[in-house]
Amino acid sequence: MNSVSSFLETPVEYLKRVGPQRAEVLKKELGIFTYSDLLHFFPFRYIDRTRFYKIKEVSEELPYIQLSGKITNPRILGQKRGMRLVAELSDETGVIELVWFQGIKWISKTLRPGIEYIVFGKPSVFNGKFNISHPALEEKTDENMELVKGLQPVYSTTELLKLKGLDSTGILKLQRSLVPLAVNYVNETLPEWITAKLQLMPLKEAMKHIHLPAGNEMLAQAQRRLKFEELFYLQLNMLRQKINREAEVKGFTFSHVGKTFNDFYNIHLPFPLTSAQKKVVKEIRRDMGTGKQMNRLLQGDVGSGKTLVALLNMLIAIDNGYQCCLMAPTEILAVQHFATLKELLAGMPIELDIITGSTKKREKKKLLDKLETGVLHIITGTHALIEDAVKFKRLGLVVIDEQHRFGVAQRARMWQKNETPPHVLVMTATPIPRTLAMTFYGDLDVSVVDEMPPGRKPVKTVHSYDNRRSEVYGFIKKEIEAGRQAYILYPLIEESEKSDLEDLVSGFEEIQKAFPAYRSAMIHGRLKFAEREKIMNLFAKNEIQILVATTVIEVGVNVPNASIILIESAQRFGLSQLHQLRGRVGRSSCQSYCILMTPYKLGSDARARIQTMVQTTDGFEISEQDLKLRGPGDLAGTQQSGVLDLKISDLARDGIIVKQARIIAEEVLAEDRELRLGKNKIIALQLARLEKEKGNWSRIS
Ligand code: ADP
Ligand code: MG
Repeated sequence: MNSVSSFLETPVEYLKRVGPQRAEVLKKELGIFTYSDLLHFFPFRYIDRTRFYKIKEVSEELPYIQLSGKITNPRILGQKRGMRLVAELSDETGVIELVWFQGIKWISKTLRPGIEYIVFGKPSVFNGKFNISHPALEEKTDENMELVKGLQPVYSTTELLKLKGLDSTGILKLQRSLVPLAVNYVNETLPEWITAKLQLMPLKEAMKHIHLPAGNEMLAQAQRRLKFEELFYLQLNMLRQKINREAEVKGFTFSHVGKTFNDFYNIHLPFPLTSAQKKVVKEIRRDMGTGKQMNRLLQGDVGSGKTLVALLNMLIAIDNGYQCCLMAPTEILAVQHFATLKELLAGMPIELDIITGSTKKREKKKLLDKLETGVLHIITGTHALIEDAVKFKRLGLVVIDEQHRFGVAQRARMWQKNETPPHVLVMTATPIPRTLAMTFYGDLDVSVVDEMPPGRKPVKTVHSYDNRRSEVYGFIKKEIEAGRQAYILYPLIEESEKSDLEDLVSGFEEIQKAFPAYRSAMIHGRLKFAEREKIMNLFAKNEIQILVATTVIEVGVNVPNASIILIESAQRFGLSQLHQLRGRVGRSSCQSYCILMTPYKLGSDARARIQTMVQTTDGFEISEQDLKLRGPGDLAGTQQSGVLDLKISDLARDGIIVKQARIIAEEVLAEDRELRLGKNKIIALQLARLEKEKGNWSRIS
């Protein structure tokens, strides 16, 4: 065992072709210290050099291609900056030009006209003729033919490494001398029963084929094996963390449903619950009755009715003698929640209040007293709720709305308000692809409200160019005449962005001119809160028909009579943001519309986003698309999650493997929570190794 691991721990310096100088750059640039580090440095793509093309087959659509033939007539053309080296490559089917703009002297010296070369590069068209610029060249010797056979891995590298001869090919040469030897010392990291069950390649094999693949099939198998392993240990860690927390952290037991809940349900409930709402209320209720602390993520598309679900569960907490708080990411939303709850609870013996950044000092003091003495049952609010001064008598349930705006640390601070942590329910409408949810919220239980209240019509979404603005205005006018209201949205990403503010203001002026018969107002983050609140209230009462706004209204705002949202410069918004904004309409049984306005010229990503919005209203589909377009790092909700340092898996593409890994991880822990069984010994060992390497896994969730 010792000698086995010590081989892989050999400093990389001692590898053939490395030496102290190259070792130094490998350390600095890539963090490669040992043989093992180099072995775990995987290619990021592969180029297919299996096939040789004939020159007459060359077309512009081809990606990189490989040709072979004789090079003739090398000559230097042009002067100074226009200077280039040109030569012809010919095989029995035709001739193609090769061009170099750099390294001209050196290449022209080494080129040997008349002998056979292997040429690799990307064809392009110049002056109506095909050429390849800066092709990779090898003389067509038997040894070189061997080297270019099959799939060639590409390694990422840096300028400094290249200076030391360690471009991708240079690194490949190192791997060629290391891999065949090193794989013999690699210890398997998955137990036999798992590799057999999923038909995964042994680690030794996978390591070999990831660097030196013998064909596409072997490469695919190697990738699947390594991705599974990576995701499996990730899931296993997360699940274990969850299990440990459940075992260690006690929670309040809400043992019964009492008068508060029942009275509300039987007398005050304004409409029957959807079956999805019922299902989720039950799930949460069960969870809060177990004696364990609940940590649950409630997902549900915009408008699916999560607020009511939260309220019903708060009532259960109250029935059991506890207080609740409902925390929102923006003041507008907090105020709106307060108003909604107040209306729903009218006539019920429940004390509720609100605390935000704008709560006056005197008022706040009174309020805090009422919380501490237990007079208040429910408090809604913003971040202000987190402050240490806010103390509860018996906080039993914390509901956090639109969770992606709150960091994990903030969640934790709410817990610390009691000796026994309250139950935590985080709600989000920001669609998260299932695979991502599993990865990022792997330690939370998840409930999904997967049904809309009855009678909702999907919002009709259209894409319009700004030169058709007058038609769009005409349409909005008709809707307002029919009694509806409209949002007109401007991008104001940074509230300090001056040109954006100018756009907003001039847009507002234009609207006032175009709709003289109706009342409009403008709302943005720079307005005083009281001013914003006044405007929102007027809009809610339909005393204002058109609200010209920025993304301050992005989440949660609920004015069911508004049936149109026009989003200006829609190309500047991300997909999930567009989806949230669209969720401001379609909140009643009337047909609603979302108009995405853009200039005629659009980048391809922006066009793809707009098309997705037009094609679907399904939040999950949109989130999957978002993940494909942007990659997981940029998705809302993932930034706070710390780095998920994935070496080989791609969450946007490897959804199936994520699920498999999750299932197997669950299976392992269900049977062998402490990892004591002989058949799981390898797992226990590998976990210990990973923990040592990575330090603190708890960053992840
Ligand atoms: P979200 O899930 O986006 O937070 P809300 O809780 O704001 O959604 O609910 C959206 C709208 O749907 C609100 O006007 C709410 O009163 C209404 N609603 C919620 N549940 C139902 C239901 N079961 N039947 C009819 N309307 C409902
Ligand atoms: Mg909501």
